[in-house]
Amino acid sequence: MNPVKKMRLGQHFLIDSRVVERIINYADIHKTETILEIGAGLGNLTQKLAAKAAKVVAIESDPRLVEALGNLELPNVTIIYDNALKVDFSEFDKVVSNLPYSISSEVTSKLLRYPFKLGILMYQYEFAQRVIAMPGTKDYGPISVEAQYCADVEVLEMVPRTAFRPPPEVRSAIVKIVPRPPSLEVADKGLFFNFVSAVFTQRRKRMKNAIINAAHILNMKDVKKAVNLLPKELMHKRPEQLSPEEFVILFNLMYEAKYE
Ligand code: SAH
Repeated sequence: MNPVKKMRLGQHFLIDSRVVERIINYADIHKTETILEIGAGLGNLTQKLAAKAAKVVAIESDPRLVEALGNLELPNVTIIYDNALKVDFSEFDKVVSNLPYSISSEVTSKLLRYPFKLGILMYQYEFAQRVIAMPGTKDYGPISVEAQYCADVEVLEMVPRTAFRPPPEVRSAIVKIVPRPPSLEVADKGLFFNFVSAVFTQRRKRMKNAIINAAHILNMKDVKKAVNLLPKELMHKRPEQLSPEEFVILFNLMYEAKYE
């Protein structure tokens, strides 16, 4: 196997059957449910998911693994040979995956734009910490805001490198994501996520300047005027000090100003 490709695809197969079993238990799968799996690999998880669910949609981008998955002949598994970042996901109830870590951030943002009941996701440990990070901590960033504004998130357990073959260089963690209605609706979810990411690239700036510099995302004419009308006490803070709800408040005000 070409080593460069191997690294890029993040192929670390989960071989510890006890961890697989626990993931399946956390997912609490019912016979009526459709499960999405991203990066199905050799199907270690896929087979167990298929035994419990009505249907599994398994996305895999490596043709050799797609073939291996096909050879398992699992009747209720639909294999999609594609890049998970490029395809639209069909309707699913739960997402259960040992993700390729290189796409954790992008794929999580993408998942959060879909409606679903539960996510049980294996991440690199450091990324898991970012998903659950509280405002004011060094790990708090766009993915914390995106996830926590519309879901309850929790690290369920740490997983050692030895649970995988080949073992990755980093530790892993299983995260539970339970989407819930946000306390404040956001006017445009996709644009909100882009806005939050752009603001966080200005992490050291006060919000006022961070927003002005991120204004291209909103494509607004008179951004300075709009920013001057935002709540002053929030404008003096730095992005990492704002709660997810405060980000929504600011975004919605900017969004209104854009269309008034
Ligand atoms: N779920 C399997 C494999 C996890 S390794 C297990 O636990 O054993 C991650 C898998 O994601 C690899 O099979 C890799 O080929 C696949 N992958 C990497 N990037 C991908 C992408 N962009 N879209 C879909 N699958 C991808």
